[in-house]
Amino acid sequence: MLALSANGVLPKADYAIFADTGWEPRAVYQHLDRLEREIAEPAGIPILRVSSGNIRNDALDPAHRFASMPLYVLNQNGKQGMTRRQCTGEYKIKPIKKKVRELLEYPYPARIPKDVFVEQWVGISTDEFHRAKDADVKYMRNRHPLLDLSWSRADCVRYLTSLGLADTPKSSCLGCPFHGNAQWRHIRDTSPSEWADVVEFDAAIRQGNARANAAGSRLLGEAFLHRSRVPLSQAPIDHVTAAERAALRIDADEAHALENGVEDGCSPWTCRGDADALTQDDFGLAT
Ligand code: SF4
Repeated sequence: MLALSANGVLPKADYAIFADTGWEPRAVYQHLDRLEREIAEPAGIPILRVSSGNIRNDALDPAHRFASMPLYVLNQNGKQGMTRRQCTGEYKIKPIKKKVRELLEYPYPARIPKDVFVEQWVGISTDEFHRAKDADVKYMRNRHPLLDLSWSRADCVRYLTSLGLADTPKSSCLGCPFHGNAQWRHIRDTSPSEWADVVEFDAAIRQGNARANAAGSRLLGEAFLHRSRVPLSQAPIDHVTAAERAALRIDADEAHALENGVEDGCSPWTCRGDADALTQDDFGLAT
């Protein structure tokens, strides 16, 4: 959308906002710098980088309030669950709203008059139109320009390729539990230091997040980044063959999610409900 705006296909945006969880892959930060240099700056569109902190550090800091990531949990009795995802709201939506309020000159907690709002573009393509949603506050009105253009993901890739941006990396936290095996393999096979980083983090959150433990709500089960609920360093992230799939008794949908990750992933204003989620202190997992 930034390129479409810079190139006049869409109207010129006043700003682009990047909500930084502090734990994106190196390639994403490098790509963002490139977009800023080559596209945003020449078009006069400022990129505003906003943040609520570093999600990785916060998870491991007993002194820091932490909005939980969607971790896979294995209870002591073998029951499986997930911790509730609060991170998208905390690390993406919250700092974006704060910045928008600043831009409107109504910083929190000022009441914003009804007729004062921004138009916010969310980059949903036609393949995922079901993710398009309204904002939950009146001072932001969501628009979905890619839907208006009837652009699919393939159209976006074609356009990016035409601009020399075919290698646009996918933005998400390096250790996001929504990754599929393809993403885990990509990290393992292309960036040993980032792989070591996620393996270390996975081991460090086995008992849940540090603050909850410090506050006495210990996880009685164990938490994992990988869907298999096996430590990431040993998790089965290589291709699952049809025979293995049959042995594991997983159907085609489950196999697809394993390989490609959770379809609706993480993006502000596009998440579906967290139907199966639990907090660290429910699900009978905590003291
Ligand atoms: S990318 Fe994953 S871990 Fe990061 S904020 Fe989104 S859901 Fe949470």
